Amino acid sequence: MYVKPKKKLGQHFLKDLSVAQKIAASIEYKEDGKKAVCIEIGPGTGVLTQFVLQNQNLDLSVIEIDEESVEYLVANFPDLYKNEKIIGGDFLQLDLKKEFPNGFPVVCGNFPYNISSQIFFKVLDYKDEVKEVVCMIQREVAQRIVNHEGTKEYGILSVFLQAYYNIEYLFTVDENVFNPPPKVKSAVIRLKRNNVEKLPCDEKFFRKIVKESFNLRRKMLRNSLAQYFSGKPDEEKFLTLRPEQLSVNDFIELTNILTVN
Ligand code: SAH
Repeated sequence: MYVKPKKKLGQHFLKDLSVAQKIAASIEYKEDGKKAVCIEIGPGTGVLTQFVLQNQNLDLSVIEIDEESVEYLVANFPDLYKNEKIIGGDFLQLDLKKEFPNGFPVVCGNFPYNISSQIFFKVLDYKDEVKEVVCMIQREVAQRIVNHEGTKEYGILSVFLQAYYNIEYLFTVDENVFNPPPKVKSAVIRLKRNNVEKLPCDEKFFRKIVKESFNLRRKMLRNSLAQYFSGKPDEEKFLTLRPEQLSVNDFIELTNILTVN
């Protein structure tokens, strides 16, 4: 049985088993006395799956949207199938609380690149459950996620993810280890949940401030956030900055200043 890669689903199957093995080996999370639930997003034909299954600390379920790939997985991973660990469907639409009532501390995968940002936003919705993410994504998106203030890649996703996760860039992956090769280089990153339960500010307003300032990335904050400033002295140092100059903590401080206005 052969699954023909479908472009619209972002299917680029890994050919190089050593890369798949290296990604699986990058998952470090473990729990005392029991296996930790791990979900793999977009297993395709299971190239990565086979190595994640070797990790005795994990209880793996896979979520795959492509029916043909699901058929392939059912045929080739009978134990996963028998235990109802192959879930056919769209990760972005799934009710994860219902699928995984006991939580899912680990998320992994060679993500479909066309929806990787949306996957991270969904992970953020479940940040209290998700303790570690190990994934391969487009290198450019990886740089956006790991880079800090003062770089041109720094953006909304960097701020949101860095607020709750410690993020490491693990390694770069070349185009030619995929079938078909993507147009871009790839990278594997690891995110580990930090100990921040709640940011010391109004989190909803924080998200609004971050989004609205980066939506007008080249503008100074006094323009992009004009409606929130009220002329108080403690606002002053932020007025002429641009969003990429603010660290997560600066955004928290700014949120608090603007909250009382
Ligand atoms: N892990 C495999 C395949 C990676 S390609 C490998 O490394 O070879 C990305 C995979 O994600 C494809 O199998 C694609 O069908 C699947 N996919 C795309 N969109 C998805 C979605 N919304 N939910 C779940 N899986 C999805």
